[in-house]
Amino acid sequence: MVDLRSDTVTKPTSAMREAMLAAAVGDDVYGEDPTVLELEHRVAGILGHEAGLFCPTGSMANLLGVRALVEPGEEVLCDVQAHIARAEMGAHAAVHGLTMRTFPSHRGLAEFDQVAAIISPKAGPYLVSTAAVAVENTHNFGGGTLQDLDQLRAIAELCAEHELGFHLDGARLWNAAVATGIPLLDYGRLFDTVSVCFSKGLGAPVGSVLVASAERIARARVWRKRLGGGWRQAGMLAAAALHALDRHVDRLADDHANARSFAAAVADRAPAAVDPDAVQTNIVVIDTGERSAAEVARAAAEQQVLVSALGPRLVRAVTHLGVDADGCRRAGEIVGQLL
Ligand SMILES: *Cc1c(COP(=O)(O)O)cnc(C)c1O
Repeated sequence: MVDLRSDTVTKPTSAMREAMLAAAVGDDVYGEDPTVLELEHRVAGILGHEAGLFCPTGSMANLLGVRALVEPGEEVLCDVQAHIARAEMGAHAAVHGLTMRTFPSHRGLAEFDQVAAIISPKAGPYLVSTAAVAVENTHNFGGGTLQDLDQLRAIAELCAEHELGFHLDGARLWNAAVATGIPLLDYGRLFDTVSVCFSKGLGAPVGSVLVASAERIARARVWRKRLGGGWRQAGMLAAAALHALDRHVDRLADDHANARSFAAAVADRAPAAVDPDAVQTNIVVIDTGERSAAEVARAAAEQQVLVSALGPRLVRAVTHLGVDADGCRRAGEIVGQLL
């Protein structure tokens, strides 16, 4: 079976499980878990921030990161396909009372002009005030796309000028850094709050980290407990994330190469379905044309290839450390044949 539904399907390797077993632990609500503290400190350093907060999910890290910048009744701006807008079950509104407004984008890519056209800082008594802007890198529903660093810099300046917060949903920021060669620090420093995930391509079973200033993280820690996210001997999970940082970041380049070879094998048989040159990281979006995506996914599954039907005519395949080059190429041949 070649499972390309998502990079969240990865399972911890035996070396990772050993690291988890060996972890020093303590009660993290008391701030006494040395492995959690090490992870938080290390990720904050990598991204150029003062402090970090280990969270069970990326959704919670985003929820806390945005809340650190936006008060109830204010708005955060993001693109129409953003994970925070589409895939976090309305938590930002349901839990924190924030509103969101979205700007249009091509494949999730944030552009200065689109953001500048709709910001509404300190809007007074008639209009909702914009308090923050959020972007996603790489962009999930955009198809693993890479944000342009110059655009990010320009938006960061715009935010600073208007005293708006700038949040990065960096669930797959690791992929962006490996694909572009741009250091994580250069991305991280542009933002006030950054979330990163360990449970996607990095292969840990659970976990995300939010980084920000020490003061914002202190407040986010209160909110995490309020949400029921105060956990205890979480060091066993932090150990998996530390192991992933040491062993599973550079190898993301293999996932990117495998995604391209999957796309090339599809395009050889169905050229209209995908442009292999548009594949920037580990996500491939396929246009199923006349065929229904659900039907293509079902037929592929019969041949031991799992992909996601994300829309009526849209199939998504995601490479990760649980699949190899041969498997990805073969999966591409099978999906291309079906199309
Ligand atoms: C997966 C993902 C998250 C977090 O998801 P969880 O399932 O809550 O860990 C956040 N943003 C993006 C872009 C993602 O792909």
